[in-house]
Parts: sequence; structure tokens; C-alpha cells
Amino acid sequence: MSESKQRDEICELAASLYTRGLTFGSSGNVSVRTDDGWLMTPTGSTMGTLDPARLSKLDFKGNHLEGDKPTKEAFLHMAMYDKRAQAGAIVHLHSTHSVAVSCLCGIDHKNVLPPLTAYYVMRIGTLPLVPYFPPGDPDLAKAVSEMASDHHAVLLANHGPVVAGKSLQDAVYATEELEETAKLFLMLQRLQTQPLTGAQVAEIKRRFPVEC
Ligand code: ZN
Repeated sequence: MSESKQRDEICELAASLYTRGLTFGSSGNVSVRTDDGWLMTPTGSTMGTLDPARLSKLDFKGNHLEGDKPTKEAFLHMAMYDKRAQAGAIVHLHSTHSVAVSCLCGIDHKNVLPPLTAYYVMRIGTLPLVPYFPPGDPDLAKAVSEMASDHHAVLLANHGPVVAGKSLQDAVYATEELEETAKLFLMLQRLQTQPLTGAQVAEIKRRFPVEC
């Protein structure tokens, strides 16, 4: 895909996320791998009305080359790409239900959400919780980096998800699946629930391996 089309796709999908309430205000950011670096949403921008010409362009080392200054959370994206050579795009949102789950007591930090549906297992699978760090703390990047080798999706405690995908469309679909599963998980609190069994999960992972 040409860089011009990548720019248009970022703006279209970001607007779609914004319109449907998955992101709001100036929160959330996305990035896409290009032939010679990264395209990223600018700092202070709203995902609802991005301008393709003003997206931040970074080189592979993360240096800002052109466009507006990148999101202050660029380091989250770089930490994830650093460990996932196949990742073509990353989505990071403060989507309400995912953030709500990230604030709960007593969740399994190694895998926050149960395997409620096959589609969740196909798109996310396992979701570790990254401990809370204040905004901009370099230890947050370190913590994400440590988990990114084994996981294309992580949930930042009291903050939100970071999800890599082979393409931006894949990363968006996976983030939406995570958000809807977080919503289901909250709806099912205090109700007797039968998640998929370990054998059912293993079978889905065998048939539909994640490719990023
Ligand atoms: Zn954030």
C-alpha cells in the first residue's frame, strides 16, 4: 500500500473509532509501519478529525522527520514494534470497558480476560496486565517491551490496551474485539458463566495462529 493510502486509512479508521465512542477527546493513538519508518497520530490531535498531511512521520529509530509532533505515547508503540518484527500497525485506546477492567481488583495479571468467545481467542488470545506507571515514565516502555515478545496485545493498568496487528485493520478489529469482550466480562460479573475450556482454546489457537 502506498504511503498516501496508508495516511488515508489511518484517518478513516481513527474517525470510525472516534465516531463509535471507542476513543474521545484527544485520547488514543495509532501507528503504521511504512517502507521507511512509521506514521503516527500527532500529539494533542483528536482521532475524529485527523489530517492525512499532518500525521507524524518517524524513521525506524523513532526520530521525528516531518508532520506534526508525534503523540507523547509514541514510546509505547516503539516498545511494542521493537519486539514484534511482523507487526504492521499498533492501536492504543483509552476505551471505557477495557479501562474499567484494567482497574478491577483480583484480576489475573497474566491473563486478564477469560476466553468468553472464539473470536476473542482468535484476535487477542492472552492479555497480560502491565503494572501502573505514571504518564511518560520510562519504566512503562520497559514493562511493555518485556511482555511484547510473547504478546501482541497488553492491557496497561488503570490506562488501556495496546494492540499490534499485521495491518491497521487487523489491529483495529482486535482492539474492538477486546473492548467488546471487556464489556461482556463486566456484564457477566456475578452471573454464573461458562468460558471456553482449555481444550477449546487450544484448538482455536492451533487453527487460527496470530501472525504478528
Ligand atoms: Zn494512553
